[in-house]
Amino acid sequence: MKYVIDFGAIPALPVVGSAELFPVGRIYCVGRNYAEHAREMGHDPDREPPFFFMKPANAIVPNNATIPYPQATKDLHHEIELVVALGKGGANISVDKALDHVWGYGVGLDMTRRDLQGEAKKMGRPWEMGKAFDNSAPCTALIPASKSGHPAKGAIWLKVNGAIKQKGDLSELIWNIPETISYLSGLVTLQPGDLIYSGTPAGVGPVKAGDKLEGHVDGFADLTVTYAK
Ligand code: MN
Repeated sequence: MKYVIDFGAIPALPVVGSAELFPVGRIYCVGRNYAEHAREMGHDPDREPPFFFMKPANAIVPNNATIPYPQATKDLHHEIELVVALGKGGANISVDKALDHVWGYGVGLDMTRRDLQGEAKKMGRPWEMGKAFDNSAPCTALIPASKSGHPAKGAIWLKVNGAIKQKGDLSELIWNIPETISYLSGLVTLQPGDLIYSGTPAGVGPVKAGDKLEGHVDGFADLTVTYAK
């Protein structure tokens, strides 16, 4: 098949221990999925149903990249998250079958133009321009679940220039990974290649040009990105 324009390569992530790539289809993100983060954003962390937003697949940035500071913002924020990569699609997936759909895991950043998101919230408008912008989804190489197992607990943290800013534990997720997959699959038919950014713990904050971000989830590769000066 020939295309009428040059479309570029399919967005993809490396796989730990393999020369093969994981193709990235759609990126779903869960909002306010840790109670402390919901509180810091001014919301009641009562267990209301999870909600989702998206980023384009080509927002993926590989580990160890230097990223240009994004346009149109003066308040870029970091959100460290466990990333779930789906190997099998489906609709209306039950909680007890949900982990069968997971291919692997990575550590990612849901980078956020907080000023644009805040304005959108105030105006009752979509969040996209606060969330779905160029280079807004850094992610490590994926580890196959066959090697890592399925994490239900473990520390998750983020450092900016060596200082801890975000800290939590996967066990504090309001909606855990199987519940999140199950719920999302009731809204859309999930596809192989979809990523789910599972939410961020408390401590989100600003990133400036020149900052180095280091993210970690116990049992997975660390993520390091630097914002260009
Ligand atoms: Mn997030």
